[in-house]
Amino acid sequence: MPRKVFSSQAYRHKVVLVSGGCSGIGRALALRFARAGARLAILDLDQAALDSLVQHLRDHLGGEALGLRCDVADADAVERAVALAVERFGGIDVLVNNAGITHRGTFAETGLGVFRKVMAVNFFGAVHCTRAALPSLLERRGQIVVLSSLTGFAPLLYRSAYNASKHAVMGLTQTAALEYFKQGIRVNAVCPGPIETPMSLHGFGSADALHAMMAQTPAGRAGQPDEVVQPVLFLLSQAASYISGQGLTVDGGYTVQ
Ligand code: NAD
Repeated sequence: MPRKVFSSQAYRHKVVLVSGGCSGIGRALALRFARAGARLAILDLDQAALDSLVQHLRDHLGGEALGLRCDVADADAVERAVALAVERFGGIDVLVNNAGITHRGTFAETGLGVFRKVMAVNFFGAVHCTRAALPSLLERRGQIVVLSSLTGFAPLLYRSAYNASKHAVMGLTQTAALEYFKQGIRVNAVCPGPIETPMSLHGFGSADALHAMMAQTPAGRAGQPDEVVQPVLFLLSQAASYISGQGLTVDGGYTVQ
């Protein structure tokens, strides 16, 4: 078991907003924050998955959770969703910019529509959520973590739009870190390698293709969503009080092979 970087109720009375919290890494984070006592606002496109997650959090973890159906690419929808979260919980202490999509194809095969869509969700989604949550985060000296990717600095073949969106997200992380440390907000990114989630299975085409690629790496396997959770919690914790504007790679040694 990894050592915990906070006590079991470390998020009691804290409000955590997770975008894309219904699947994969976002879901693992939502469950962990709920276990730590957080009140959760979860933004996601998928209404059925939101209903089921909120029910699960209430029934099994006794957690207070608000599911907000929202496309993070839509600035107005994000403003409305964040306003509802603030109205319900009184503010936001932690923002996790996690919602994301991927694609696959050569640069030439990747149409402008795909570039625009991927940038709209992965990059502008993070911009929209950060802008909307910022007044509350400033008031509460809150923290931000962004789910970037190892492709934010080491591009993956046939993911041109995705690679570019994650580079952009790193730029946003570093710029926001520059501006807001003195006001109490640290902004960091976690940069996972391939983690076994619906997104990576879609990106690699199949579980076999994902596992075949990861078998060649130092870890010899793909990561699991839970293995991204502790690095996120570390960056949000007081243990990381002097860390801002950084990307923490979580890739089983993929980038050093
Ligand atoms: P996932 O596909 O399992 O989950 C993504 C969630 O985001 C889903 O619940 C989906 O409904 C939601 N979502 C998608 N588009 C949305 C939109 N426009 N508005 C609101 N919600 C939306 O993905 P995941 O693998 O858990 O990835 C989470 C984050 O981690 C992403 O930013 C991804 O780029 C990053 N990441 C994933 C991996 C990986 O291998 N899985 C690696 C590096 C980085």
